[in-house]
Amino acid sequence: MNITRAYKTELDLNDKQTTACKRHAGAARFAYNWGLARKQEAYAATGKSPSAIDLHRELNALKQTDVPWMYEVSKCAPQEALRNLDNAFAHFFRRCTLKRQGKLKGKLGYPQRKTKKQGAGSFRLTGAIVVFPAAIQLPRLGRLRLKERGYLPTTGVKLLSATISEQARHWYVSVQVEQEREVAANTGPVVGVDLGVKTLATCSDGTEFPNPRHLKRRLKKFKRLHKAVTRKQKGSNNRKKAARTLATQYRTIATQRANTLHQVTTQLAKTKSVIVIEDLNVAGMLTNHQLAQAIADVGFAEFRRQLLYKAQWYGSRVILASRWEPSSKTCSRCGWVDEDLTLADRVFHCQNPECLLVLDRDLNAARNLAQLAGSSSDSQNACGAASAGLSRLAQVKLPAVKQEPNTRCASA
Ligand SMILES: [Zn+2]
Repeated sequence: MNITRAYKTELDLNDKQTTACKRHAGAARFAYNWGLARKQEAYAATGKSPSAIDLHRELNALKQTDVPWMYEVSKCAPQEALRNLDNAFAHFFRRCTLKRQGKLKGKLGYPQRKTKKQGAGSFRLTGAIVVFPAAIQLPRLGRLRLKERGYLPTTGVKLLSATISEQARHWYVSVQVEQEREVAANTGPVVGVDLGVKTLATCSDGTEFPNPRHLKRRLKKFKRLHKAVTRKQKGSNNRKKAARTLATQYRTIATQRANTLHQVTTQLAKTKSVIVIEDLNVAGMLTNHQLAQAIADVGFAEFRRQLLYKAQWYGSRVILASRWEPSSKTCSRCGWVDEDLTLADRVFHCQNPECLLVLDRDLNAARNLAQLAGSSSDSQNACGAASAGLSRLAQVKLPAVKQEPNTRCASA
């Protein structure tokens, strides 16, 4: 199977290289903001918006007069930023359509200006990229050292682009590659997975993955650090310093959270043939202020995203059960439905006199989900009472592997 994926790893930059990267990121940010303003102007005047290609041509002409400093950076940086802007608008219009059809409740996300306050930012380069075991060679930036040796693939892949980004004064490169991957059919068992806040994931075979609650554990500390920032004078060096400390802490959480999710999703995708999860409405759940922080701290949406692409890699199948399935309220042994079950009830008690099952709430839900796998592959009627209430299924459509033509910028 031909897949497109990215490998992201940290760079080990010296001061000169850091400056050059900042300059590139600055050029990308400038091009994005300039393009956004140009698009708005042109739309207000003519009702039509210039494309990324038009804007790039215009920007190139501008280099000679207004922005000569842009000659110092690879032309890819502004060019790709303008492409990003086009994408941002495409997504905005896509959400507008969804909203009109009533399929979207969230915000439309009109493209916003990028500011330095959000960090140095990022930029993407295409063209002559060479990967070595412990370094990467990029147009204009030259050879940059990597912190981890041998992670980036050096052979058997087609390099598409490299994106350099910064987070809390750490610089990363993400290399997008196209590669051939051999996928053997997964022979593992079928499993239902219930996602939760108390336990991150409960599997129908009884395995539990605890929720480390990376943010919750440090809430007090974060409150203190946030206060430390806002108490300092605006524009002062001390405020910058305090903001840096805070950013470092957020980076730690982000990496730890990513690590936890990657470990769980990889283990599931590698060892199970069919994984049934609930198709949770994460964006909707985040509007509930009492749950939002806990849910965002787990990263449900990211969990599902990772599981979906990893299932493709390891030959397993993910089934998304409809979010309206009463998977928590139904007895996994006899099908009796507890209409009065609340979120606070951690144990499921079956009231059917012939069953009287007592089971952990999450495990019960996971078992119900696992049963859905059977009813989706076999005939739905063959499952009997156990899955009577659980027949509507949403078989997930895997996103087609994205293929982007790489003809943007042959030389830089
Ligand atoms: Zn029962």
